[in-house]
Amino acid sequence: MSRKPRLLLSRQALADNYQRLSSFSGQAECAASIKANAYGVGIQFAAPVLWEAGCRTYFVAYLEEALALRSLLPDAVIYAFHGYTPDEFSVARDKNIRPVINTSDEATTQGIASLRPALHIDTGMRRLGIPHDEFERLPELMGCCQPSLLMSHLASADESDSSQSQQQLAQFESVRDALGSRCPPSSLANTAGILLGENYQFDLVRPGIGLYGGSPDPMDPKGFQPVVTWQAQILQLQRVQPGETVGYGGSFVAQHQMQLATIGVGYADGYQRVLSGRGEVAIDGERCPVVGRVSMDLVTVDVSRLSGHRVGSWVEIMGPTISIDTLATKANTIGYEFLTRLGSRMERTIV
Ligand SMILES: *Cc1c(COP(=O)(O)O)cnc(C)c1O
Repeated sequence: MSRKPRLLLSRQALADNYQRLSSFSGQAECAASIKANAYGVGIQFAAPVLWEAGCRTYFVAYLEEALALRSLLPDAVIYAFHGYTPDEFSVARDKNIRPVINTSDEATTQGIASLRPALHIDTGMRRLGIPHDEFERLPELMGCCQPSLLMSHLASADESDSSQSQQQLAQFESVRDALGSRCPPSSLANTAGILLGENYQFDLVRPGIGLYGGSPDPMDPKGFQPVVTWQAQILQLQRVQPGETVGYGGSFVAQHQMQLATIGVGYADGYQRVLSGRGEVAIDGERCPVVGRVSMDLVTVDVSRLSGHRVGSWVEIMGPTISIDTLATKANTIGYEFLTRLGSRMERTIV
């Protein structure tokens, strides 16, 4: 019997990545961004490991995610990036969830200070946060919402040749200076921001991708360990003759005799179809190219050079040999998208 593709989730790697980010962050508290079910890795797995590693503050996107996290971590400080809607106010207060305030309307809502919110100012991302042209209102807004944290978000921290981070840093610092002694603890850096150095770290950092083994620089893993190892089984071996075509549309034509392995993983599991004829999997640490199109539940790879594999062997789709960033680059995307698209039918095993 063949088995479904599986994800092996490493506690050790997650804890090590947290320690690593924490050690890069100097005096700043190292929080964790675990929105979108911990970037697809799973909060049920990630939250207790991070708590044990010493993480006390967490960021998610929605109140719903915050509530799921609250049931796992009764004593954590939890912020919800997307704030809250009026009907969520009382549950946020009951469950001690801190909204991130993104607009002046939210900041001036009656009673908002009792939620101990964060105040998000926009220093150039133009996505969420109090916009630049309202900064003169900040003292008034802060008086209303009494934020426990002042935050902003970097748009280009992963692009070392961009000057945008410095501009955002300068703007963030000028707001802090203007607030003087009324300035709350502050937070600017995501994973890439932490790596920009001490100036960017302030009182609290909020890394996400580095925790899960992704790097801001696809060419340099920065020592982060792969948390997710994605494996699938060889379901069948094929000998293909020159001139035969493989898979949907016959897009691959064999030039010589070759052995192909049919593997039980496909785009329904998150192995994106754009990897047709481009992706690679690893068998015993050897890279094997994807041949022909990726189908919903299957992919074919060239194993002509290998020996020792057989029907039932587990193949690495992503992990120690094929990093998240290698795979994402081949698919013209980023590790974040790959992780968050990992399919829900896969078995998840904590190791
Ligand atoms: C997702 C997110 C983070 C974490 O970013 P990484 O690049 O994954 O480290 C930090 N801050 C905000 C506002 C975010 O949305």
